[in-house]
Amino acid sequence: MSDAPESGFSLEPGEDLARTRDWLHEFAASVIRPAGAEWDEREETPWPVLEEAAKIGLYSLDFYTQQYLEPSGLGIPVVFEELFWGDAGIGMSLAGSTLAALSVAANGTPEQVGEWCPQMFGGPGDVKLGAFCSSEPEAGSDVAAIRTRAVYDGAAGEWVLNGVKTWATNGGIAQVHVVVASVDPSLGSRGQASFVVPPGTAGLSMGQKFRKHGIRASHTAEVVLSDVRVPERCVLGGRDRLEERLARIREGGHAGEQAAMRTFEASRPGVAAMAVGIARAAAEYAAEYSARRVQFGRPIGQNQAVAFMLADMAAAVDAARLLAWRAAWMARQGRPFRRAEGSMSKLVAGETAVRVTEQAIQILGGNGYTRDFPVERWHRDAKIFTIFEGTSEIQRLIIGRAITGLDVR
Ligand SMILES: Cc1cc2nc3c(=O)[nH]c(=O)nc-3n(C[C@H](O)[C@H](O)[C@H](O)COP(=O)(O)OP(=O)(O)OC[C@H]3O[C@@H](n4cnc5c(N)ncnc54)[C@H](O)[C@@H]3O)c2cc1C
Repeated sequence: MSDAPESGFSLEPGEDLARTRDWLHEFAASVIRPAGAEWDEREETPWPVLEEAAKIGLYSLDFYTQQYLEPSGLGIPVVFEELFWGDAGIGMSLAGSTLAALSVAANGTPEQVGEWCPQMFGGPGDVKLGAFCSSEPEAGSDVAAIRTRAVYDGAAGEWVLNGVKTWATNGGIAQVHVVVASVDPSLGSRGQASFVVPPGTAGLSMGQKFRKHGIRASHTAEVVLSDVRVPERCVLGGRDRLEERLARIREGGHAGEQAAMRTFEASRPGVAAMAVGIARAAAEYAAEYSARRVQFGRPIGQNQAVAFMLADMAAAVDAARLLAWRAAWMARQGRPFRRAEGSMSKLVAGETAVRVTEQAIQILGGNGYTRDFPVERWHRDAKIFTIFEGTSEIQRLIIGRAITGLDVR
């Protein structure tokens, strides 16, 4: 019996979640990590790994939903940390559909969630993907500059989408695409809405597929929308609610948050946890290496210069995880991010992953710089976490505005 007082506060994942974590860790260690280098070189979606993950119930809407609903809020951070500990490129292929699903969950009606989210995952033997398409060539950090237009054709009862999306994870190969478009360009970002483009819709095509620095197993491409016609019911939240919202804004009323922003806010603690997974992998690998590698007659880890670096790496990983867990816990409790806690977690975890993976290369010396060891790949993979889902600078803007109340630019 522990004589610690009952505190009502815990940083220990519950029994179920701890079991899930151990199960995922086993999959990450035995299936994901051994496949990482191959799929990085191939620069292709690792369909066989997705299939294996689907077979054991990991790559499934049910599994992710269960983790999103985990009462402590730690379900998704724990899951993503383990998957990305295994490999970030494969991890992103396993997690990419969740951003599209989250945008439907955040902005859609229960009927829309029920109709579209299962199609983003498919099932064992027939796995599918979802893609969330917000960014455009002229609208990256500046989401308000989105030019893709959605026009309602009342006679046909359809929306007509035209524009070019870029950087879409799973873009063009997904079963279901969620597209952010402007319905009323005069209202800037407040005139935007999200639309589902159902499987096989004519007019949606893949543009160039990008050849990337890291997370190369994750497919990233342009998506071209040319007179794409989707049924009225494909606007997330429904057309009535959208028209009411736009009317309120035109009368000078409150708009609520932009659709894309709501998706990003909800996803940031999970994205932070992905970065924590990469950083932890590198910190552990470097620590083990430092105990084995002998120079000057002793393991390199016995040098303070190396041990202090390892100490900083381990502390930074744990600090980043705590920020991710705090934000995830707050989100699950329905507490608003008044001090931009979601952005804080993403900022710190992303920059930690870049720094820690670079330190890991340093500790491995020449070996660290080669593709015979995984740390150079992890460093390339880590860099995306200071860029996508809002760059580090944009996170600092959001945090700066939240803590000063000023319109920081
Ligand atoms: C691998 C990958 C996957 C992606 N997946 C998706 C996806 O699935 N869906 C999707 O919609 N998008 C996705 N993106 C796009 C990603 O979110 C954008 O790349 C990101 O938002 C930055 O936009 P940008 O690349 O246009 O850079 P820019 O906005 O052009 O920024 C360039 C630089 O300027 C800085 N900057 C810009 N504005 C400011 C400012 N006001 N103050 C200070 N600094 C500023 C930025 O921080 C950055 O350093 C992905 C990108 C990549 C690379």
